[in-house]
Amino acid sequence: MRTPIIAGNWKLNKNRAEAEVLAKGVVEAVKDAKGVEVILCPVFTALETVARVVAGTNVKLGAQDVYWEETGAFTGEVSGSLLKDIGCTYVIVAHSERRQFFGETNETANKKVKAVLKNGLTPILCVGETLAEREAGKMEAVVSAHVRHGLVGLSVAELEQIVIAYEPVWAIGTGKTATPQQAQDVHALIRSLLKEIGGETVAAKMRIQYGGSVKPDNVKELMAQPDIDGALVGGASLKADSFAALVKF
Ligand code: PEP
Repeated sequence: MRTPIIAGNWKLNKNRAEAEVLAKGVVEAVKDAKGVEVILCPVFTALETVARVVAGTNVKLGAQDVYWEETGAFTGEVSGSLLKDIGCTYVIVAHSERRQFFGETNETANKKVKAVLKNGLTPILCVGETLAEREAGKMEAVVSAHVRHGLVGLSVAELEQIVIAYEPVWAIGTGKTATPQQAQDVHALIRSLLKEIGGETVAAKMRIQYGGSVKPDNVKELMAQPDIDGALVGGASLKADSFAALVKF
């Protein structure tokens, strides 16, 4: 019922020429993939290049961040309408690296989610605890706050559009994956929060991706969990063959 969604977050990697090669490799490798949504999220400067490569294919384009205002004196920012104009259909919001290094808060995450929806795009709202928070027994409180505050003020119809990515910070880029059971437990927690926020139908429809060192050799077990609906992938999305292997889990 929920279509799995595999998204590659290229982070600050790949110039236009490299992005073109990688995107072409992914398009070719996943051209027969069915029943799964595939998304590539390059840096802003490579969006147009990748948009051209994925046009007319089963691969979609996403951005790694957005600003909530549409126009004006906001030097360095990019709006939802500009991302739509360049061909994006997805936007990652509040990735833990944005929270950690660039002052992203639950409040700014919520503004960004709303701006993305207003432009008819799909937000991928990232939530997840740090190792210190997990070890201090705060995982549930942190994840709940990320979900609740990130989704404040949205209608049922809007909630249904949103993808949540559970990314325990201690598993991102570290090679330490949450065990399938650890991930499933948090995904189940998130789904119960979604039920409280939007009701049973919304909770059943919303997709929750797992992110954190997802690799071809662990994707199958993760995806077999009942509340894991896909993956947000960093490192393993930078090579066409490893990313394609995830898509074909
Ligand atoms: C990410 O960037 O969202 C991520 C999960 O990275 P990695 O797969 O490298 O852990």
